[in-house]
Amino acid sequence: MFSFYFVTCAFLYKYIMKHNFNSGPSILPKTVYEQAAQAVLEFNNTGLSILELGHRTPQFMSVMEEAIALVKELMQIGDDYEVLFLQGGATTQFMQIPMNLLNPNETAAYCDHGVWGSKAIKEASNFGNVQVVASSKNEGYTYINKGFAIPDNAKYLHITSNNTVEGTQWHQLPETNVPIVADMSSDIFSRPINFNQYALIYAGAQKNMGAAGVTVVVVKKSLLGTLQHPIPAIMDYRKHAEAGSLLNTPPVFAVYVALLTLRWIKASGGLSVMEQQSIAKANLLYHTIDSLPVFTTRVAKEDRSLMNAVFFLQNPALETPFLDLCKQEGMVGVKGYRTVGGIRVSMYNALPMASVEAFCNLMASFAQQHG
Ligand SMILES: *Cc1c(COP(=O)(O)O)cnc(C)c1O
Repeated sequence: MFSFYFVTCAFLYKYIMKHNFNSGPSILPKTVYEQAAQAVLEFNNTGLSILELGHRTPQFMSVMEEAIALVKELMQIGDDYEVLFLQGGATTQFMQIPMNLLNPNETAAYCDHGVWGSKAIKEASNFGNVQVVASSKNEGYTYINKGFAIPDNAKYLHITSNNTVEGTQWHQLPETNVPIVADMSSDIFSRPINFNQYALIYAGAQKNMGAAGVTVVVVKKSLLGTLQHPIPAIMDYRKHAEAGSLLNTPPVFAVYVALLTLRWIKASGGLSVMEQQSIAKANLLYHTIDSLPVFTTRVAKEDRSLMNAVFFLQNPALETPFLDLCKQEGMVGVKGYRTVGGIRVSMYNALPMASVEAFCNLMASFAQQHG
């Protein structure tokens, strides 16, 4: 009887309990899943599901207001910023940013440090002059350039704060008077930075702040209003700001899941606690990579991402056996991006330390077998 019990537990653990290292959509806190599930059944004693609640009801308006207030509180930004909840993912922002900020005769400076940044460059060049001021493309995007020149007349400088695909992260901002625009899709709310140094911050929610379907855009009011030509209303930040992100039907459920995640971040101790946990998780993983000769990474040490670790098997023939072992042990989402290959382990806020420990133990036992 007892042995039956233990065998069943081991079975359930292996086949139901997963360690989720997905790069996005990715793991969220369990309490967020539970509260979101409850709200689908009945939202806040309204007798209605969150899915059937009108977006202009007082109940949903208060969800939106609280979500906006929490973004401002966690970022420690004031009323000189607009916080918008929009649709279309970070990819839509690649064009919506230059559409709102750039006149055809103006120049925007862009950093090219990976797949996402290079897509942003391509879209921006449809609206004005784009000057690529830094690129690590020739070295396979394995580092972040330092000490490059930024033209004073640039309308803004665009960076990708964390390169999700390549595993690099900005740990220090370039010194410049040019307004900084950052794609923070994969490291938003993972560390207490000075958000007031940025003119515009954007992030798809599905990596560190909620479910897919909503994008947060935080923009300095002074940056808006210099556009010399009309743009479609649904693309216009000013129109969304005037309407409190209720210009049209917002992604009601995704906004609610973002609110639950923001509440969880605050209740867990805020951004400095998120950062401490991220450092602990990343230190363990990078230490394991560095100490086992079976594994290797090409990413410059000082630019390593705390969110996404990208590494390889020293012997490429061992990649498939390693990935097979990961699959067998319930380690989900560790295969590298299709254009990069190798292994990518994503360690967002909600990933428990125990998952990183389990993964590192697996790496060590694989290394012992194949060392
Ligand atoms: C995932 C990701 C994107 C793309 O986000 P979508 O919401 O799918 O458009 C853009 N930039 C970065 C840095 C990302 O990690």
